[in-house]
Amino acid sequence: MLRLFDTAVGDIVEIVPIAPGRFSMYVCGPTVYDLAHLGHGRYALVFDVLRRYLEWRGLKVRHVSNITDVDDKILERAEAENRSPSEVASEFEEKWFSTMAKLGVLKPHEIPHATAYVGQMVALIGRLLDEGVAYLGEDGIYFDVSKVGDYGLLARQSLESLKAGARIAEKDFKKSPMDFALWKFSDPSSWSWESPWGPGRPGWHTECVVMSVDLLGEEFDLHGGGLDLSFPHHENERAQAEAMHYKFSHHWVHNGFVMVGSEKMSKSLGNFTTLDELLETTDPRAYRLLVLQSHYRSPLDVNSQTVAEASRALSRLDSTCQRVLDAGVDMTSSQLDEEELQAFREAMDNDLDTPTATGRLFELRSKVNQLLDDGMLEEAGKACATMEHLFGALGLTLHGTEEAELPSNVKEIVERREEARSVKDFALSDRLRKELSDLGFAVEDTPSGPKVKRR
Ligand SMILES: [Zn+2]
Repeated sequence: MLRLFDTAVGDIVEIVPIAPGRFSMYVCGPTVYDLAHLGHGRYALVFDVLRRYLEWRGLKVRHVSNITDVDDKILERAEAENRSPSEVASEFEEKWFSTMAKLGVLKPHEIPHATAYVGQMVALIGRLLDEGVAYLGEDGIYFDVSKVGDYGLLARQSLESLKAGARIAEKDFKKSPMDFALWKFSDPSSWSWESPWGPGRPGWHTECVVMSVDLLGEEFDLHGGGLDLSFPHHENERAQAEAMHYKFSHHWVHNGFVMVGSEKMSKSLGNFTTLDELLETTDPRAYRLLVLQSHYRSPLDVNSQTVAEASRALSRLDSTCQRVLDAGVDMTSSQLDEEELQAFREAMDNDLDTPTATGRLFELRSKVNQLLDDGMLEEAGKACATMEHLFGALGLTLHGTEEAELPSNVKEIVERREEARSVKDFALSDRLRKELSDLGFAVEDTPSGPKVKRR
């Protein structure tokens, strides 16, 4: 039985699906106004691993994740670049999915867009007004948090202590500094939608309530996202759902932050600001491995050193697989090692303990090498097949190095080196070999062309 840390309970709890054999999860998606950064990559990978693990356990998962395509930041960028908000949103949505594809993140089964749900949001806000839990303010419609008895649950704080910590509200028409906008009035000539209260735009916290309930029903298994979303975003979603008497999400799961240490993020320091920048020079699988090697609730340190360590660890896994292939072991008929499967399940069921699960798989790798050294090919095949299968369950495909899998900058250097060799510029060709070597790749010239391997 899977157990996860539920933010609403403040403890690890058993996850019992509402419908046996099925699992419904809603994960808050990106606001599409800029490129994905490392934190986005982490949450996407954490929930990808959770989904894959549930599927591996035989559950039929329905994974919904939205695109926030209405937001002030989208509008600001559109105005600065003199184009329409929808152009900005579709550009960054496309880039988001191309980056996610590089990371091997499975596409959600449903990808609702906020702009397609404005009508339903207006309807929900109308009902909240009717229920007496929302009120008209000077610049929009606000939710009255005092009407929700346990407001502050996901922050693990009472409303009183949240109020004490809040900045003095500059909007003195608000009943409480914690009250949040459901609808923001705007100039009809600007980006706006019609509503019974005048033209405006929806507040961010309403869209996920409307979209999750529309696609998953008033009750579903899990709502997730990065820790920064637990408060106020998720709490404000929960408050609206509570006011509507929805059962809503049974569990709330959040992943920890990405840290870049004390170093300022910059290219010259070898730190990375966007995911694409990282993936230009790093095998995307190495980032997945780095994410897997830390517990999802712990902070994750991403810097040139931790990325290089993950890349080396990945190379070792790949080269062991390559050794098994080179030894001519046929793994297609190999049975999987039941004891390893059981240990994997135990670790993963224990609040998704991927560091323990992957640690054990690294031990299995050592065992494969030992078995190969001892000439026990069949056993080596079984151990390697198990290792590949379990890493596969985590979304990490292992392989002997193939050119198709090389990072794009490495491929480019290999091509330039081939050109240099074709015009007999051996000085340049040697310099490029050195560049490849600095990046951790060895190139061997064979009659069928260059063969590149991770060292
Ligand atoms: Zn959300």
